Amino acid sequence: MMIIMKSNATEEQIEHVIQHIYEAGLRPHLSRGVETTVIGAIGETHTIPTERFECLPGVEAVRRITHPFKLASRQFHPRSSLVTLDGFQVGGEGIAIIAGPCSVESRTQIIETAHAVKEAGACALRGGVFKPRTSPYSFQGLGEEGLEYLAEARAQTGLPIVVEIMSHSQLPLMETFVDVLQVGARNMQNFDLLRAIGKSQTPVLLKRGLSATIEEWLMSAEYILAGGNEQVMLCERGIRTFETATRNTTDINAIPVLKHLTHLPVLLDPSHSTGHADYVAAIARAAIAAGADGLLVEVHPDPAHALSDGKQSLTPEQFAEMVEEVRKIAQIFGRHLVQPAAERALYGR
Ligand code: PEP
Ligand code: MN
Repeated sequence: MMIIMKSNATEEQIEHVIQHIYEAGLRPHLSRGVETTVIGAIGETHTIPTERFECLPGVEAVRRITHPFKLASRQFHPRSSLVTLDGFQVGGEGIAIIAGPCSVESRTQIIETAHAVKEAGACALRGGVFKPRTSPYSFQGLGEEGLEYLAEARAQTGLPIVVEIMSHSQLPLMETFVDVLQVGARNMQNFDLLRAIGKSQTPVLLKRGLSATIEEWLMSAEYILAGGNEQVMLCERGIRTFETATRNTTDINAIPVLKHLTHLPVLLDPSHSTGHADYVAAIARAAIAAGADGLLVEVHPDPAHALSDGKQSLTPEQFAEMVEEVRKIAQIFGRHLVQPAAERALYGR
């Protein structure tokens, strides 16, 4: 439920409404705009009549949010949210291209890739260190050693780092190293993990589950937002369908649907959604044309010898070509690529 305050509402009136929200067994969520203050009443609101708040002094109107996701919904927050990373924002006019290998494999591999993707126009570096592999015998990632290499790559290039977190027990370690916590498809409904990162201040990239509906996905985002972490970005990464020609089926529809339903930034991962390097650039272009705020792309200096997802990884040269194509599409729609961050001389955040 959204309680819209009159533009001349006093602090006391706002406080009074908040007290009533607690008394109704709900949680308040205050957002102060330039003109109006809106107070969200979060919880099981369907049994509570709107009149309970409509009659309070300073209240202009009370509206129900019809979707099951509340804080994530555009009804609740009509303006698009911006997620701030080092020196730039995702979700505004800029298009953010995050690129790097599926897995960090060695110091040289990640540092070489970081310089190459930055040169080509990426604004952030991705790299997995805890890998959710289908087989327990496949490469599982370098763990903390990989985080050290990523930190060094960030120190050399200034690119913020995006790394997948697999379990809530990894949170303290991840928070000290990474700029964005990636929640992978397999963990989209790991509610313990979602609750834990809801308490974190680190921005989150929440990927869509392998066969999750858009509503289920937004409910997962709701867990993080309800915990107090508002820095959430969504990433479509393809869904399971009957089609086997590609690894997954890119749900391009998800982009305009999400833009309609939520204020959160929407990215697309053309690497996992196609599973094939030859198709990545086409789907990257389609994503930007459909209104995505950014891309997450796998790039490897030697895809044939990659320890994970080589088939779908672009070489740095292919990536540079893709970026130029995406740049043209972005321009058609009056958007631009977010600039790579400035060089940073020091290690760490
Ligand atoms: C990845 O980004 O390397 C990854 C494992 O992605 P997803 O969770 O979308 O499968
Ligand atoms: Mn991968």
